[in-house]
Amino acid sequence: MEAAAQFFVESPDVVYGPEAIEAQYEYRTTRVSREGGVLKVHPTSTRFTFRTARQVPRLGVMLVGWGGNNGSTLTAAVLANRLRLSWPTRSGRKEANYYGSLTQAGTVSLGLDAEGQEVFVPFSALLPMVAPNDLVFDGWDISSLNLAEAMRRAKVLDWGLQEQLWPHMEALRPRPSVYIPEFIAANQSARADNLIPGSRAQQLEQIRRDIRDFRSSAGLDKIIVLWTANTERFCEVIPGLNDTAENLLRTIELGLEVSPSTLFAVASILEGCAFLNGSPQNTLVPGALELAWQRRVFVGGDDFKSGQTKVKSVLVDFLIGSGLKTMSIVSYNHLGNNDGENLSAPLQFRSKEVSKSNVVDDMVQSNPVLYAPGEEPDHCVVIKYVPYVGDSKRAMDEYTSELMLGGTNTLVLHNTCEDSLLAAPIMLDLALLTELCQRVSFCTDADPEPQTFHPVLSLLSFLFKAPLVPPGSPVVNALFRQRSCIENILRCAPASRFPIQGPDTPWLS
Ligand code: NAD
Repeated sequence: MEAAAQFFVESPDVVYGPEAIEAQYEYRTTRVSREGGVLKVHPTSTRFTFRTARQVPRLGVMLVGWGGNNGSTLTAAVLANRLRLSWPTRSGRKEANYYGSLTQAGTVSLGLDAEGQEVFVPFSALLPMVAPNDLVFDGWDISSLNLAEAMRRAKVLDWGLQEQLWPHMEALRPRPSVYIPEFIAANQSARADNLIPGSRAQQLEQIRRDIRDFRSSAGLDKIIVLWTANTERFCEVIPGLNDTAENLLRTIELGLEVSPSTLFAVASILEGCAFLNGSPQNTLVPGALELAWQRRVFVGGDDFKSGQTKVKSVLVDFLIGSGLKTMSIVSYNHLGNNDGENLSAPLQFRSKEVSKSNVVDDMVQSNPVLYAPGEEPDHCVVIKYVPYVGDSKRAMDEYTSELMLGGTNTLVLHNTCEDSLLAAPIMLDLALLTELCQRVSFCTDADPEPQTFHPVLSLLSFLFKAPLVPPGSPVVNALFRQRSCIENILRCAPASRFPIQGPDTPWLS
């Protein structure tokens, strides 16, 4: 892969120091007030100073569910790129790349050159970012298979690639993990042979020890923990149990109900490591969010946004944005991997159904011309387990919208692809962007005290199906508004003259 093009902004507002890039930025937006029946729009302007540390750390990523399809595929992808592997297939030789990664394969326009042509650079060139080939992986799994065996079990990669990767993956072995059978489907019990014994408090301590052990043995500056294990059932939020940080920590101490994913989130936060949730369940219960707030540790979630939801958040934005009234969205999925088998159980399916169902809310609410208060399209999600198709997931969607004068329009989509090859680059982006956010601080003229982003990293909304945002902030699902949000933050940090557009600033709240 080509090295990222370098660029510098020549402006008195941008200073490239030895340790940091400092940029002044004038953020212009509007506030709207209602006075009588009239809407009044008030332009406002805030002057920010962004500071981005230039030193890129040695970054470790710990995957919970490391031996799963996503975990083994991501590890394989980074190794294949680092080793510059190529392999024969029936349609010719293929080479390792990072297609599907916003930071590695997406570009942004810097502006026009002297010939009036737009100049594009990769996202990763906007600010100093960890190179994906330099990531170091470790993780946990309730299944003891080493990563080479896990890759073979996943049946995602071409055989020629698997053979070359085998000797590099064989020595990678997931650490034992926490298995609480009632949280995942009963059909997963057969693979649970690699477990941390003891009470919840002892398990929490073991996870914390694992994080510290990885940090010191691999000589890392930073670790990010990413949940890519099976979808769990939702956990009830109960006052006194998990509603505050104090109650959640007491619950763990007393061995009361806590999900494995919440246990991992708490361990990561206590170790000062960002925690990201790639599955749909409510891992980040209010108590975990409060703990993240108290410790100023980043958390993000929920549920990687890979295929169907990504299309939905573009298509419905396009339909409603064009003034068409979408009234029915029906999504059928079938898949044959272990994720599909786990989701064939009702409670785990329910978690996925919820996370897939709210993705058009903001688009519907943005158009009071089409939708009366409380009115929304019918939205149905079906997922079936069909072993034969393996990781090659099928998603069929039907969108029906009302046209003018009683007409209707029905669009039908059929989407087939390897699910894990969509998810792995998203996991990569999550780690790289979260790490970058840890190096950015900002202040305003009115408040010169440097601040960091809110611990709930809503900036990652582009990559999550059901984005977590700070309490009280609006959720943005429309995909290109989410992309603009990342792009604008990355642009304004090094370059004062680039515009910030799109959603307001939930990252500040
Ligand atoms: P997978 O079943 O192949 O992998 C999950 C792994 O987690 C398994 O190896 C399993 O043994 C392990 N595991 C289960 N409980 C564990 C625990 N408590 N601790 C440690 N390990 C545990 O599934 P996958 O296809 O890799 O997907 C992983 C998750 O990502 C699923 O929840 C899925 O819904 C979610 N997801 C996937 C995609 C995608 O496109 N692939 C998109 C969105 C979300």
